[in-house]
Amino acid sequence: MSKRSVEAVIAPPPPHMVGDGFRVHNFFPGTKQIGKTRMSPFFMLDYGSKIEFSPKEEPRGVGVHPHAGFETVTIAYHGKVAHHDSAGNSGVIGEGDVQWMTAGAGLLHKEYHEKEFSKKGGAFQMVQLWVNLPAKDKKTNPKYQEITNAMMSRYILPDEKGFVEVIAGGYKGVKGPASTFTPIEMYNARIKKDAMLTFSFPGTYNTGLLVIEGNIKVNNINAHADHFVLLKNDGEEFTISATEDSIVLILAGDPINEPIVAYGPFVMNTWEEIEQAVEDVNAGKFGVLEE
Ligand code: MN
Repeated sequence: MSKRSVEAVIAPPPPHMVGDGFRVHNFFPGTKQIGKTRMSPFFMLDYGSKIEFSPKEEPRGVGVHPHAGFETVTIAYHGKVAHHDSAGNSGVIGEGDVQWMTAGAGLLHKEYHEKEFSKKGGAFQMVQLWVNLPAKDKKTNPKYQEITNAMMSRYILPDEKGFVEVIAGGYKGVKGPASTFTPIEMYNARIKKDAMLTFSFPGTYNTGLLVIEGNIKVNNINAHADHFVLLKNDGEEFTISATEDSIVLILAGDPINEPIVAYGPFVMNTWEEIEQAVEDVNAGKFGVLEE
């Protein structure tokens, strides 16, 4: 097993608002270190670092918008998000839960702070990933995987040093509940100070970590909360050691080596497909959803 080294530790880029409910740092595709393909099959990472929202009667969020050609994966660390879509689906993503939404052929949805959370206000911390789909699956029917925290399999570290929640893929024989179109590994390591973990993914897998809380060393490179660590594709194995109690999101996946044409909420292979998606939305083919 050869060692995989750190390529970059990326500080959180200046945040921007998505609607009035999501203050996010875009680690990719918007940074110079990570463009549209460097983390493929992950196309986008918006990170809502922890902030306090004041109580508000009318929930903050983002109104009706389409998606097509990929999947959105929303991970809630603090706060709750409610969603509604044009097929009549709705649900709440609670603290510690993951919503894996396959937009595929296309849908309209809206995402808001959950009503009761909004009324009370409080800490809010989220990740939204866009996971690309290969050409052959871009037109798949929309679907949801509501992965509650209780559904996640856990690898328990010895000596009460914490655990690894497996969302997708498998860690040390513990398999995650998410079904994916291409090979993807996605875990939350919730570990105590001095815990050490080893990870090993095929060298071709694009691999990165987001430090959600605490402070870690990746091999021997320091990474603080809210930083993204991009690993090289020069080997398989790397280690994480916690210098504080920490939460780390680990991402790895087999790259989709196909052309990417992205425009707003669409991720396709060609411009013709983008134009088609825009036409389809305007023609009402993604359904209807009230604001
Ligand atoms: Mn959305």
